[in-house]
Amino acid sequence: MNYNVDEKGYYGEFGGAFIPEMMYSNLKELRDNYIIILNDEDFKAEYSDLLRNYAGRPSPLFYAKRLSSFHGTNIYLKREDLNHTGAHKINNTIGQILIAKRLGKTRIIAETGAGQHGVATATVCALMGLKCIVYMGKLDVERQEPNVMRMKMLGAEVVPVLSGNMTLKDATNEAIRDWISNPVDTHYIIGSVVGPHPYPDLVTRLQSVISEEIKWQLEEQTGFSDPDFIIACVGGGSNAAGSFYHYLENEKVKLIAVEAAGKGIDSGESAATMVLGHPGVIHGSRTILMQNDDGQITEPYSISAGLDYPGIGPLHAFLHKTGRVSYEHVSDTEALEAAFRLTQFEGIIPALESAHAFAVLGKHKFRKSEVIVVNISGRGDKDMAAYMNYMKQSVRGKINDI
Ligand SMILES: *Cc1c(COP(=O)(O)O)cnc(C)c1O
Repeated sequence: MNYNVDEKGYYGEFGGAFIPEMMYSNLKELRDNYIIILNDEDFKAEYSDLLRNYAGRPSPLFYAKRLSSFHGTNIYLKREDLNHTGAHKINNTIGQILIAKRLGKTRIIAETGAGQHGVATATVCALMGLKCIVYMGKLDVERQEPNVMRMKMLGAEVVPVLSGNMTLKDATNEAIRDWISNPVDTHYIIGSVVGPHPYPDLVTRLQSVISEEIKWQLEEQTGFSDPDFIIACVGGGSNAAGSFYHYLENEKVKLIAVEAAGKGIDSGESAATMVLGHPGVIHGSRTILMQNDDGQITEPYSISAGLDYPGIGPLHAFLHKTGRVSYEHVSDTEALEAAFRLTQFEGIIPALESAHAFAVLGKHKFRKSEVIVVNISGRGDKDMAAYMNYMKQSVRGKINDI
């Protein structure tokens, strides 16, 4: 089985580039050059130097002893939370800004929801001295003040978007509009494996450093490079795509992606795209998305802003269809419980997004000899308000009672 994108930008029936004609020249320039640049020795040297000395890679692979004994198996944690800016997002923004420079671009635009991708983009723009404009729904601007302040301190202009529900989907529309109006000097850094070809492939390749490292780190620590399972959370799907990439063709390694069920898949407040969605076009690619009978996008919901997206990248739609990856979902409450369990067993406070990946551990029966890698996509500092809220509401004193 081949899981790579084809020449037209498709993974099976999913992918492609459904874009307004006005955007064609920008996208063509990127499509014609991205593989050449990614394979260029000079690019590779600069990218790996920045990953190492700026972002702090390789991120550690840590054997979680107490969590392993709780679940009766062997659990390794891939520590993307230890990267500069606190998540896997920086792997992508470093790569894309180096591409933008090689294409002669001087102005960078990005969309952001919770602000994690906005911060990672503003960070690399400061590093390279490039102008940075971040589109962010007005509701998110109000909800995520610390990240808005970080972006501003880093020198970015944050543009509140007033259309639609004033969240991530609307910010993405606005960034696309900007790119159409500024075709010459601007590069659009998309934050996940979504959007028109070549973005899903480009972002997957830039995030694939995660599984490249898992391979040699696991070999170093256990003598085998293949785990039995890899588990990652999925919003648009970039940390999952990066964690799976070098194992996709190795069918012995089982792959689990975890979506946010929010308040439950039947509650009307959910972001479990694979359960609730159908094929359609969103943000330039054919994939699976949550929509009503008229094809209007349904508003998603999750306690974690990073998973609160109505679509999923086209690679994931294909991996779902072929059955290569199993897509599961957990609720807000299950994710919160898993976050407290990880914190109290291992002293690691995960991002709420990452906590979803840990919540499926309790839903499987793993063997004592099996090896499981869970990706911690980011750290939990940004989610302290939600965690504090949960502690206050926790009537049974759950936090002392894991
Ligand atoms: C943005 C984000 C996600 C979701 O994005 P993916 O593209 O699905 O990886 C997950 N975890 C963290 C910490 C994030 O910041």
